[in-house]
Amino acid sequence: MKTPKRHTITAALPYANGPLHLGHLAGVYISADIYARFLRSNGEDVAFICGSDEHGAAITLRAKKENKSPKDIVDEYHFSNKDIFEKLGISFDIYDRTSSKHHHETAQELFLEMDKKGAFVKKESEQYYDEEYQQFLADRYITGQCPKCESQGAYGDQCEKCGSALSSSELINPISTLSGKSPQLKSTTHWYLPLNRHEKWLSEWIQKGNL
Ligand SMILES: [Zn+2]
Repeated sequence: MKTPKRHTITAALPYANGPLHLGHLAGVYISADIYARFLRSNGEDVAFICGSDEHGAAITLRAKKENKSPKDIVDEYHFSNKDIFEKLGISFDIYDRTSSKHHHETAQELFLEMDKKGAFVKKESEQYYDEEYQQFLADRYITGQCPKCESQGAYGDQCEKCGSALSSSELINPISTLSGKSPQLKSTTHWYLPLNRHEKWLSEWIQKGNL
């Protein structure tokens, strides 16, 4: 008997800040599901793994707008999206959440292991900070005037009027959407992963048929 080859399949983790729509399903989950089913029908050993992405500014912004906690938002959409996947017959072997203890521990273990090996480059940079809320502001938390088309209400990452990609430091008269006040620039440390260092081995690994 032939030993089945082991396959791990995943698909982009849906953000738990809103309901899934047909575009998500058609573009991502149905194609991954077809591939998983095809391999299983050929007797291969498949783990089709996915889960809700429950971290990030889009969730905290929605929670603030609806006057709920971020946990209320992710609980609502994790379970409703999981239910949609089940009803549509998407054959995940595991559908978990990025807020699970297991996920936190695994992500931290990976980060610490890579940090120990010197994989990261630490850099200080200036980022907008809301004094009143005592937190650094993600790009989506900052609005201001677009430097390109001069319209008001552009976000720190993009102007939705003219479609320009922006960085928050380019906005004219930036305002924090949390306190409604102008944020201050403050120094902060970030860990960067220079992917170019991994180009050679990764390219060889892929060419050997590992993908
Ligand atoms: Zn613009």
